[in-house]
Amino acid sequence: MSEILKKLQKDIHFIEGLNSCMNCGVCTAICPAAEFYNYDPRVIVETVQRGNEEEIEELLKSDTIWYCGECMSCKTRCPRCNTPGLVIMALRKISQENTKTQRTVMCI
Ligand code: SF4
Ligand code: SF4
Repeated sequence: MSEILKKLQKDIHFIEGLNSCMNCGVCTAICPAAEFYNYDPRVIVETVQRGNEEEIEELLKSDTIWYCGECMSCKTRCPRCNTPGLVIMALRKISQENTKTQRTVMCI
């Protein structure tokens, strides 16, 4: 298993946030950030669940995980009791810890 997956599986946000996703899209339908950005929490959860190391690394390098507003609306509606917002918190932490995937946000 890759280091990224090992780290994810130890993160309490990830453990709390992902049981099993059935790819229904309810989280995206309820997500306020998805209205404003090219952003889809369903795809993020599905990518993490697939467990492909390269795909997860691409996710960690992308802007996508930074569009979440951490409002946790997704927690209230998921039929599988997942919380994509928590999964994303775990991804952000790993992204910032790894120099290969670290993001620098510039305020203009
Ligand atoms: S609502 Fe839950 S089961 Fe449906 S896509 Fe989102 S995380 Fe997966
Ligand atoms: S926590 Fe993030 S992914 Fe979940 S509804 Fe709020 S903005 Fe969307």
